[in-house]
Amino acid sequence: MENSKNKKLEIIRHSLSHILAAAVQKLYREVKFGIGPAIENGFYYDFDFIEADKNGYQRGLTRITPEDLPEIEKRMRELIKKDIRFEKKMLSKAEAERLFKDQPYKLELIKELPEKTVSIYQSGDFIDLCKGPHIKSTKEINPESFKLSRIAGAYWKGDEKNPMLTRIYGLAFQSEKELKDCLKNLEEAEKRDHRILGKRLELFLIDEEFGSGLPLWLPKGAFLRKLIIDFALNTYLKRGYQLVATPHIANLNIFKKSGHWNFYRENMYSPIEVENEQFMIKPMNCPGHVKIYNSKIRSYKDLPIRFTEMGTVYRYEKSGTLHGLTRVRGFTQDDAHIFCTPEQLNSELLRMIDLTKYILNSFGFKKFEISLSVRGPKEKKKYLGSDKIWRLAESTLENALKTKKLPYKRYPGEAVFYGPKIDFLISDAIGRKWQLTTIQVDFNFPEKFEMVYINKKGKKQRPVMIHRALLGSIERFLGVLLEHYAGALPLWLSPVQVSIIPVGSSHRKYAKDIAEKLKKEEVRAEANIQAETVSRKIREAEMQKIPYILVVGDKEMKNKTVRVRKRGKGDIGEITLKKFIEKSKMEIEKKL
Ligand SMILES: [Zn+2]
Ligand SMILES: [Zn+2]
Repeated sequence: MENSKNKKLEIIRHSLSHILAAAVQKLYREVKFGIGPAIENGFYYDFDFIEADKNGYQRGLTRITPEDLPEIEKRMRELIKKDIRFEKKMLSKAEAERLFKDQPYKLELIKELPEKTVSIYQSGDFIDLCKGPHIKSTKEINPESFKLSRIAGAYWKGDEKNPMLTRIYGLAFQSEKELKDCLKNLEEAEKRDHRILGKRLELFLIDEEFGSGLPLWLPKGAFLRKLIIDFALNTYLKRGYQLVATPHIANLNIFKKSGHWNFYRENMYSPIEVENEQFMIKPMNCPGHVKIYNSKIRSYKDLPIRFTEMGTVYRYEKSGTLHGLTRVRGFTQDDAHIFCTPEQLNSELLRMIDLTKYILNSFGFKKFEISLSVRGPKEKKKYLGSDKIWRLAESTLENALKTKKLPYKRYPGEAVFYGPKIDFLISDAIGRKWQLTTIQVDFNFPEKFEMVYINKKGKKQRPVMIHRALLGSIERFLGVLLEHYAGALPLWLSPVQVSIIPVGSSHRKYAKDIAEKLKKEEVRAEANIQAETVSRKIREAEMQKIPYILVVGDKEMKNKTVRVRKRGKGDIGEITLKKFIEKSKMEIEKKL
């Protein structure tokens, strides 16, 4: 039932893309058509609005903007109400080429089709090259259940060497209510967009001139980053990890030896030449940690060894896929590599699962889904290591999840080239899923780098290696955190925790004294002594999502008190400064 409903909706969405193209054709006669599929929540169609003369010379651009969408939408509704039929015809390739002689993108598609005949769909004046299926008539579409949502640039066939087309997106559902719900969710998501919040809260900057996908941290953002890193690192150090540090570039040979050059090259940048040697910007921290392990003889008594590093790595991402902090080209992992005996693997995994839950809970993420990525049955060449090793790694991970009674899903074919992994997907405040934590078993690295420890019998033995990043990348984690809290970070994570606002100029000194006192108690406070009205300063602090605002005037000065405004609650009354200090320190301590 659900399935056939979805099928029907998909057909409606795809049919709407034809109606969109038909409406655009009426308004912009010279437009060239790309493709128009159904997608999640709706549809799109790609257009080339470049106008050319008879000889193919460009006459100028017809640019469309979001302001043009309502007009197109209106035309679409008119067409829908006309009860236009979708009619399928089969043509020979030659006939189709004649029909689409002015449509270069369609001609290109016709050429690529392996079949001798091609199918076309006609709806009113608009004819498209299309396999279908389609609705019988526009009668089947509720004209109030769709909306054109946005415009974006999209390369023809997704290839940056091709012309950039204009993609018009639409949302479409079977009922008006479903459309409205979707619009509401989108609006909620926009309020939480970490790129917008990052700007408003003055946390980070992505400057195209400096480099796409390379965030620059402003003072408040850099401080927030430090808070996250300090908390994670201190937790790890308390739990038996040792801090190491490795450089940002390394000799290419090390990545050839590790297998990254063969199996991971598409994610790496080109080598840099230094004195006739090739160096790589590191995509991973592992080889450095392995070298540190290998720098001396290890005994079974030393294991497990847990090396951790806030390691910055650089990975190639296509410019089209970059997105704020959640998809970047350079990022810092809360990375660690654990080296243990095969007997210790199970207990190390159990510890790590506990640690993951503790870390994620501390930041307010309580709900997560777990995926277990294992090797696919067929494509064995993609992976390093023997069957026996893989079976052992996969079953150990699975057993750890079973022991912890954690529900998980198995994903065959999703493993990394060197081993299987567990990923934690957290659910944010509005139910969106984000992948953060990854725990990967690796029986392969130890082989490649001939890692050993001396076992009880005095013999050399291979340790097992685990790669893990619990927050994932600090950048992505911070982006997710901002979206989860819609910018209203918990007190302990707020770069500015308290803003003190004097009522008049005679209260400035008192405000500054309070700020100093709070700072001494390690509460991050700022006195706002600018010459602005109190209400304006309150509004500003609220925009900055500062958890506490203290307003001080004559009465507060005389009583040695503060008037407290709590974020989201408003005025919560007057209390002594001493009480406020105790209260805020306790809340910070409890990570509220
Ligand atoms: Zn179609
Ligand atoms: Zn690693």
